[in-house]
Amino acid sequence: MKIRVLGAGYAGVRAALDLARRFRGRRDVRISLINQDGYHQLVTELHRPAAGSVTGRALAIPLRDIFAGTGVELIRGTVTDIRWTAHQFVLDRERVFRYDRLVVALGSEPEYFSIPGMAEHSLTIRSLNSAGVIRRHIASMFREAAGLPSVRDRRPYLTVVVAGGGFTGVEFAGELADRVRGLARRTGAPAREVRIITVEAAPDILPGFDDPLVEAAVDTLVRKGVSLMMGVPIAAVERGAVVLQDGRGSRPGPSSGRGECGQTGWWNGASPRGPGGGRWSTSICSPWTARMYTLSATRRWRSIPGQDSRWLPPRSMRSARAGLRHITSGPPRPDGRCGPTREQVSVSWPP
Ligand SMILES: Cc1cc2nc3c(=O)[nH]c(=O)nc-3n(C[C@H](O)[C@H](O)[C@H](O)COP(=O)(O)OP(=O)(O)OC[C@H]3O[C@@H](n4cnc5c(N)ncnc54)[C@H](O)[C@@H]3O)c2cc1C
Repeated sequence: MKIRVLGAGYAGVRAALDLARRFRGRRDVRISLINQDGYHQLVTELHRPAAGSVTGRALAIPLRDIFAGTGVELIRGTVTDIRWTAHQFVLDRERVFRYDRLVVALGSEPEYFSIPGMAEHSLTIRSLNSAGVIRRHIASMFREAAGLPSVRDRRPYLTVVVAGGGFTGVEFAGELADRVRGLARRTGAPAREVRIITVEAAPDILPGFDDPLVEAAVDTLVRKGVSLMMGVPIAAVERGAVVLQDGRGSRPGPSSGRGECGQTGWWNGASPRGPGGGRWSTSICSPWTARMYTLSATRRWRSIPGQDSRWLPPRSMRSARAGLRHITSGPPRPDGRCGPTREQVSVSWPP
């Protein structure tokens, strides 16, 4: 039996390791892990290279190190198609592979909530590459600002708008605030003119978190100099400007209700990713075929009372464990359906 795992993020790595352990010594079972890069990236730390606190390399763990001695076959390539009925997938538009069981753990894509201009004019934090783009872009804006004569001219270049006060946006805003002085020193930009503005449509940042955690996060961000605009939906993003629904802007203009900024980042929400750009089901089991398992971490992250929230494992890993139970629990049901989605949240951690 060929079990192929697509994607070497938290979910895919967890699934492949658990499968290798489960089928150790079974010559009739071959497990492969397919990923576009030769490394696993520590996505939960990406706000740090994006702000310039660490190099991207520090967050890339070679897959060959993780899977040494496990018997898992590593295949590098970009999944460009999945042919459900033929039980095949395609890498890089040309290499065709067969599977008996397929685990789809390709991660997610940013959810822009249909806000006009957001996709075109913002940078998202999704991978080591995108984190590098953000870091370089902010540094280049600071360098531009350093050469300009007046506060007014410099302002757009030194304004960073973080769209969304969810977990990632909050982490990034805080991390960047810590880096401002160093970055300003290196680029010659005046640190006191730098503005980091977090805009959140909900009344509070960190929706879904417990009140004391939210209050602590607000205090910390404010102390670091981050401006918080809460309960303010973004209506649109234009090149260099964020338009807010209440007519205000990240820097209110004289009449336009628009704020100028050198950088908008969008870090709020995600949709499961699959080849072809489609929105995929967040359930463990695909409705199309019981041979395919979709592992996804797009359910809302929540804190568990009594646990240090920083150390909660990504949901995707728990989802991987639940998916594994389906894969190893025998042949597909005749109706082509798998077990209930709620297993995703009932898997305990640590096991
Ligand atoms: C800055 C930041 C901080 C976060 N902090 C936390 C946290 O503290 N706790 C928490 O629970 N969650 C956190 N999250 C969310 C968490 O990182 C995600 O939920 C998690 O990464 C999802 O894991 P995944 O395996 O489903 O997908 P990913 O980690 O996105 O992995 C997908 C993998 O598939 C590969 N891939 C994608 N497309 C293709 C293709 N076509 N062909 C081949 N390979 C492909 C990618 O390269 C990647 O290796 C954070 C996210 C960010 C961005």
